[in-house]
Amino acid sequence: MQLFSAARHIVFGLTLFCAALAAGVSIAHAKPLNVVATTSMIADAARQVAGDRAEVKALMGPGVDPHSYRQTRSDIAAMARADLVLWHGLYLEAQLEEFFLDLEKRRNVVAVGEAIARDKLLSHAEYKGRFDPHVWMDPKLWETVVYAVRDALINTDPAGEATYRANADAHVAEIKKLISYMTSVTATVPKKSRVLLTAHDAFSYFGRGYDFEVLGIQGISTESEAGLRRVEELVNTIVERKISAVFVESSVPERNVRALIEGAAARGQDVVIGGTLYSDAMGDPGTYEGTYIGMIDHNATLITRALGGQAPAGGFQGKLAAGS
Ligand SMILES: [Zn+2]
Repeated sequence: MQLFSAARHIVFGLTLFCAALAAGVSIAHAKPLNVVATTSMIADAARQVAGDRAEVKALMGPGVDPHSYRQTRSDIAAMARADLVLWHGLYLEAQLEEFFLDLEKRRNVVAVGEAIARDKLLSHAEYKGRFDPHVWMDPKLWETVVYAVRDALINTDPAGEATYRANADAHVAEIKKLISYMTSVTATVPKKSRVLLTAHDAFSYFGRGYDFEVLGIQGISTESEAGLRRVEELVNTIVERKISAVFVESSVPERNVRALIEGAAARGQDVVIGGTLYSDAMGDPGTYEGTYIGMIDHNATLITRALGGQAPAGGFQGKLAAGS
């Protein structure tokens, strides 16, 4: 009797298990994938592509500088629990490089920025043998990263392949709309004003994609302090080219940009701060600027308007915060 009862339980349990297997998708929904990403931009791509199949955590929040970021104890714990860890690579997370190269041997870790073909990357004089990592600034390149995120999710969770493909295609379609908006508004900036002067060299891909000359006070990484000589050089450029607006960045201190403005003012050239650009981190979570599309829309709209071009204050979708 007891034996019979136990057997009945096993059969009942197996039936439930098979029913759950047949339902496939609902198993994944019951327990979402646990995904950890380094930058907020990569986390956004993972959220767009995974939808409710994954819970995505970004290690670096708004205003955090990836060049100097070091992992915390809670980051390590989060990565140990993750089904998939996404990092950028291309030496963006300079202080985490060794950590990730080691983690890659033991865990499901993918450097999604490395998916971009080498001939599409820009080199940088300061980084011998390495590339400029700020590829998200050109949405055309970012499409490749979105697809790399998609492929990493498919490898981790093959049952979700159809969802990941459909979501990635939908997100890339949005990115393509953003690109056509950026192309048309940036084209209205007068030729002589197409100089983008910012706190660090994060905008070279934007400059190449949309025809701006890009000058950074600090080099490509935020680690080297801007030398006095560099500030003097740039003050000369501002005065000679009559540059009327320079930009600050959310993840870099403003003081270097202020030094430029004061230097130019002392030589009779008035320069204003054109606004704060999102360079290496997005805006606050839950806001439009806290999404990849919103971040890039904000930058392109603000740059266009500050340098004398025409763009709607609300940006590409009328969603930009007033005065942002
Ligand atoms: Zn940077």
